[in-house]
Amino acid sequence: VQNEEQIELLQALESQEAWELDFWLDPVSTELPVDIRVPRSSLSSVKEYLRVNNIAYSVLINNLQELLNAEKAEMEMNQMKERRTRSFNFGAYHSLETIYSWMDTLVAQYPNLVSRQEIGKSYENRPMYVLKFSTGGSKRPAIWIDTGIHSREWVSQATGVWTANKIATDYGTDASLTSLLNTMDIYMLLLANPDGYAYTHSNDRMWRKTRSINSGSVCRGVDPNRNWDAGFGGPGASRNPCSDSYHGPSAHSEIEVRNVVNLIQGHGNFKSFISVHAYSQLLMYPYGYSCEKVKLKMKVLPSYLILLLSDQASGGSIDWSYNIGIKYSYAFELRDTGRYGFILPSNQIIPTASETWLALKHLMEYVRDHPY
Ligand SMILES: [Zn+2]
Repeated sequence: VQNEEQIELLQALESQEAWELDFWLDPVSTELPVDIRVPRSSLSSVKEYLRVNNIAYSVLINNLQELLNAEKAEMEMNQMKERRTRSFNFGAYHSLETIYSWMDTLVAQYPNLVSRQEIGKSYENRPMYVLKFSTGGSKRPAIWIDTGIHSREWVSQATGVWTANKIATDYGTDASLTSLLNTMDIYMLLLANPDGYAYTHSNDRMWRKTRSINSGSVCRGVDPNRNWDAGFGGPGASRNPCSDSYHGPSAHSEIEVRNVVNLIQGHGNFKSFISVHAYSQLLMYPYGYSCEKVKLKMKVLPSYLILLLSDQASGGSIDWSYNIGIKYSYAFELRDTGRYGFILPSNQIIPTASETWLALKHLMEYVRDHPY
């Protein structure tokens, strides 16, 4: 995107409902690209629109269905292998049921460190589990990490699983993490949008929102990262229930959001709130509705990340957490930058999780060493 005018032209394209476009990356800034999934039936119209308005474009994925088929076949192969070898492959994508049963295994393996807490049920009545890493005490200063609030961002949930395992296995051997867990707790919500995640496996791999019914509309679901009570209904969110960024009828209308709000507020001693998304390779902090690149101040931030102001949208979780006084509130956008987008090949899960761990660990150490 070259200028503000082009941003507006692309925003107009986004509200052109009949073309059924799926904006993977919204037009928000001239610093960032815009990625759009275009149905075959709208292809010539979209190309013409871009040509007439002098908006340059290139094709990243020619045939998305091919990638989806390959991903599905690979998951099935992996599932058979895991059953045969009774193992869990951290470099693979898994169903909700498999992740939930893996959580049980982790708790059983590390009973003195990890516990599983149900924070409530989803709209479709699935339990929402938080993994709590704690070496004792009560309501110690805590760090929150959620993954998968947007269900189709599969590398986010997979990174959450890898990270939970990393924390459990490194406690007692990694001196820094050990000292952290001796004074602080870590809470991880691996499937922040369980209904959406189940739906990406059963029906629509590209599903992003919750699955709640919107009264008066045939379209289901609310964007759970436009639903928080922070600038609710402002820029970057849609009032149209059929939009992928629909903010919902009211702030905290979504039970999945409410469950997190209740846990965080009931606890009252969270010092950091980290939300993990994909894709774009960014680290964002509150808040506001525009993006500005800022000079990097953090020492150990992996070079693949650039730091951006805010989630580029209203009603986001980190704006809410910051507003209630959680100073260290950040959101990650993991790999990639658009080559595969949401269909990131599973052989990139472990590299993604490993590089993200460097940043997560540094953030957590900073929180530990700068109490407030
Ligand atoms: Zn997201």
